Amino acid sequence: MSPALPSYEEAAALVAHYAARLAGLRPSAQSVRLGLAAGRVLAQPLYADRDQPPFARSTRDGFACRAAEASAHGALTLVGATRAGEAPSGPLPPAAAWEIMTGAPVPAGADAVMMIEHVRIEHVKAGGEQVRLLSPRKLKQGENIVAQGAQARQGDELLATGTAIQSSQIALAAACGYSALEVFVRPRVAILTTGDELVPVESEPAPGQIRNSNAPMLAAMVAAAGGEPWVLPSAEDKAEALDHALAQAAEADLLLLSGGVSAGKFDLVEPALARAGARFQFTGVRIQPGKPLVYGELPSGRHASSQSRGEERTLPFFGLPGNPVSSAVTFLLFAAPMLAALAGSLESGPRFALARLSKDSDKHGKPGLTRFLPASCTFSGAVGQLPEVALVPSQGSGDLAALARCNCFLVVPEETSSLEAGAIVRILLS
Ligand code: AMP
Ligand code: MG
Repeated sequence: MSPALPSYEEAAALVAHYAARLAGLRPSAQSVRLGLAAGRVLAQPLYADRDQPPFARSTRDGFACRAAEASAHGALTLVGATRAGEAPSGPLPPAAAWEIMTGAPVPAGADAVMMIEHVRIEHVKAGGEQVRLLSPRKLKQGENIVAQGAQARQGDELLATGTAIQSSQIALAAACGYSALEVFVRPRVAILTTGDELVPVESEPAPGQIRNSNAPMLAAMVAAAGGEPWVLPSAEDKAEALDHALAQAAEADLLLLSGGVSAGKFDLVEPALARAGARFQFTGVRIQPGKPLVYGELPSGRHASSQSRGEERTLPFFGLPGNPVSSAVTFLLFAAPMLAALAGSLESGPRFALARLSKDSDKHGKPGLTRFLPASCTFSGAVGQLPEVALVPSQGSGDLAALARCNCFLVVPEETSSLEAGAIVRILLS
């Protein structure tokens, strides 16, 4: 263990510091149709265009009435009916009730709705009907009615700039009349895999070669985290090839390299980054997998001319170790939060949760490294019980099959060598 390397927390703080600086440099915005807005980030607050609900709304099928009259259990004359989509034809007279359906506006003068299940309907000789609240049931003022504006007032800010848009935000936007939304332009994330052994998925690997699985994996992770993946051709382990690829990547908002950052003879990524003018923030972290991770900034081709607030924008980069599990873990821990910040999102940071370990973990990793082990967690939602997590058997950080079977990573703190069944543990959600 190199004492000079930052811990996970120290490294994460360095990335968070850069991400916080981005908060002042908003990405540019574009308009997208509401149906295409899922996964994007709001570039403008969302306002209520009218009161929500826009009228006092019944939440039940039943009879609008005055709560005090209904609770006296007298017969109330049925004087009207309103379905959802209609406006009541008039106010509610005294000693009367008004048939009403769920979602319909309540007539003026009514202050409660009796549920249809709670009344007796009586036919009157002269024709017509009366309803009576069944004794001993009482009705409170406001019962089964949502008052106009109870959820929002016209002009209220309902969602802030930077809110991640998913289905429920889309529903709210639709209710407020937005057929399109202003969202931030997705950050363009260059993905540069390196390694002489890699062939694209379409090719048959020759002896000694393997298929490039990191490029499509990272592209999927980038898209899921709100970025626009830009997969560059994989680079050979040669100085000129790397220099050429880095020059191309300068147009990106974030650069992810995979492979070539360990201490091997053909690990040429760090020197190539240095030649391109990199300022390194760290060149290794006390984590496993992912210890060789490098992070820093390059002068950015794209933003060099457009200086923002006197501060030249740089191109942040991560040199992810090539082993697939290392790449996945370091992406989740460091690249995803950076990407969220570049995307203008208010939410960033990896998602951790607590769970109960179902079996002993006797993985004795190297002491002094925070470990992130492929694990599977069951979120049963049983009352009074934490989610149950178990390690997925794995052959190490090259084990793609184990990676594909896990839905989280068990976090083993630096000072811990093994964990016992029943222990409350942290997990990193993937
Ligand atoms: P490296 O970080 O370049 O030393 O690579 C570490 C391990 O990850 C080696 O076994 C590589 O073959 C493997 N590896 C590197 N890049 C990729 C990739 N893009 N897809 C799949 N495996 C990779
Ligand atoms: Mg390599």
